[in-house]
Amino acid sequence: MSATATKPINAYDVALENFDLAANALGLDDNIRAMIKYPERILCVSVPVRMDTGKIVRFEGYRVQHNTMRGPAKGGIRYHPNVNMDEVKALATWMTWKCAVVNIPFGGGKGGVTCNPKEMSMGELERMTRRYATSILPLIGPEKDIPAPDVYTTPQIMAWIMDTYSMNKGYPVHGVVTGKPISLGGSLGRNEATGRGVYFTTLSSCEHLGILVKGARVVVQGFGNAGSVAAHLLDSASAIVIGASDSRIALYNRNGLDIPKLIMHKERTGSLKGFPAAEEITPEELLSLECEILIPAALENAITEENAPAVHTKIIAEAANGPVTPEADRILNQKGVFLIPDILCNAGGVTVSYFEWVQDENHLFWDEQDVNAKLEKVMTRSFADVLRIHTDKKVDMRLAANMLGVSRVAEASRVRGLYP
Ligand code: GLU
Repeated sequence: MSATATKPINAYDVALENFDLAANALGLDDNIRAMIKYPERILCVSVPVRMDTGKIVRFEGYRVQHNTMRGPAKGGIRYHPNVNMDEVKALATWMTWKCAVVNIPFGGGKGGVTCNPKEMSMGELERMTRRYATSILPLIGPEKDIPAPDVYTTPQIMAWIMDTYSMNKGYPVHGVVTGKPISLGGSLGRNEATGRGVYFTTLSSCEHLGILVKGARVVVQGFGNAGSVAAHLLDSASAIVIGASDSRIALYNRNGLDIPKLIMHKERTGSLKGFPAAEEITPEELLSLECEILIPAALENAITEENAPAVHTKIIAEAANGPVTPEADRILNQKGVFLIPDILCNAGGVTVSYFEWVQDENHLFWDEQDVNAKLEKVMTRSFADVLRIHTDKKVDMRLAANMLGVSRVAEASRVRGLYP
């Protein structure tokens, strides 16, 4: 996570600030604010793991359920060295508004383990995952809280969680996690869903702004699951991906990077490093490339008040969660940059997670075309819903999305009432 020279940026402070802005714009009742602003439940666990050397190392893990007014908690599990309690609280909060924006019957949750999976063997990862899953077991379940992949977690890791949960129950429970391998009740299209959702909302934005996708210059910061799929789909639609980066290197080619080859290179070597036919640039240069579409697809706080003035794009599509700080938002708004906020832009992942959960619960599976068509419908409708608030209420796109999400959760809380 980057930080400005003056003060480190706490993602949870950002989440609370965004909630307050939306609640104020909606004129939300103080009683409802008290009911929905803060996480419902927070669990912090110790995860001791026997490493391959025989040594036992203790990791710290979390699971946060922010809100379950509209349905079970839903949200990924992150394995990353920067994971901490406040980050997980922020990510869980954003999941609540995200599920409400796309109008799927889930609340918000998130989990994580502070670790560096890149330095761990498969055996170590499996033992850590099973121990962590056992520790959060009382909280999770298909009707309570459904984890999924997030940064550096994979379908294989979801399979281990499903197995650990099922062995404890004594029968297979497919609906306890989403983003599973297809052979284990995963949904076709889930793996590409986040990037595909980014693609659909980017197309809608181009249409709204009168920008031709064909020939539009695209820059992708972060070449993981979301970033690489969005790059691939935009490339297939004749946009030109001129810049891409991962945690190790940033690449530039003014005539366009060969995206299918770049994806193959990343799959083969694990990094963008060593890719021919591209110039190496700095991460800061990447974010300031002149382009039509900039896709921050890595971690929080990538675009801050420090580097926002140099950003040179028409559209920012937030494939990551929380990549733009509130100060950067204000600068980009003044510059007239059109933002597709994270809780809308990257909601394709959780939307197809919802489809996966529905298929698991019904033991009836859909073909990929069906999944993609349903995803497109949800994403274009949600984009239109947010855009309508943006134009009608004359508020920026982030505030519009937060207003939509918060208002739906507020309405569910109002009709359910306060227990007891
Ligand atoms: N981790 C993803 C997100 O931030 C997906 C969550 C899910 O599928 O439950 O939206």
